[in-house]
Amino acid sequence: MVTQQAETRGEKLKVAIKGNLSEVFLSLQGEGIWVGTPTVFVRMTGCHRRCRYCDTEFALVAEKQARVWLGWRISEPDLVVSNPVSLCDVTGWVQKAAGQVAKWVSFTGGEPLLQADFLAELGKELKELDFKILLETEGGLPDRLMKVLPFVDAVAADIKLPSTTGEPLDWGECERFLKTVARTQVQACVKIVVTTDIDEGEFCQAVDLLAKLHGSAVDCRVFRPITLILQPVTPARFVTETPSMGLLLRLASLAQMKLPDVRIVPQVHKLMQLP
Ligand code: SF4
Repeated sequence: MVTQQAETRGEKLKVAIKGNLSEVFLSLQGEGIWVGTPTVFVRMTGCHRRCRYCDTEFALVAEKQARVWLGWRISEPDLVVSNPVSLCDVTGWVQKAAGQVAKWVSFTGGEPLLQADFLAELGKELKELDFKILLETEGGLPDRLMKVLPFVDAVAADIKLPSTTGEPLDWGECERFLKTVARTQVQACVKIVVTTDIDEGEFCQAVDLLAKLHGSAVDCRVFRPITLILQPVTPARFVTETPSMGLLLRLASLAQMKLPDVRIVPQVHKLMQLP
């Protein structure tokens, strides 16, 4: 009887916990070191940034409705639902969208960490269902990261260089964020989007920051290598040009002088015309 009451309370709680979503769908991971992995994307709506090259402009301002594909994303969504949506519903949609193929779920956005409390609960639920969780974030909200970290297996964080985004960067918060990730056992990669007008001084500052983390982590023997991904920008929003291979290779060679694992990876899902 007591167990039954506890279960009922638990179910009610799952219905009461709500978040604001943009989309749920199955596709292939197109960025970073997990490229090609079948993944269910849970795209949260809303972002505090306005990067010049943002390719999810629709999710910048909190959307009133969320679109849900209960499988591979083709044509119209299976569901269009009003925000906020319940934890219970999102868990069910993820399971249906994943089918037998997706073992990974990506928390993306917008900026997912703006809804860290919701994602911590969702992460807990999905881990119990044996999903692996990747958090894709702009990399500047370390306090919110702490809430979600216990429930994620991997983190893909950006270093948002002002010359590429058109916005200031709080280097202190960025460092605090990356230190927090480096101290844990999660798989991690850091992404820098490369535009034609990237400032090499800023780029080197970011490399030095990662090199410093690498050095201190080696000393205290808790380091898991953080791969640096140079991602040539895909034209979107106010950006129309892509960087040359010459520029990408020059930046890669600069980074390789100080970092063990540097890769140039474009947005593969865009090349494959996937969402
Ligand atoms: S942080 Fe991401 S979602 Fe937000 S504006 Fe920049 S690219 Fe877009």
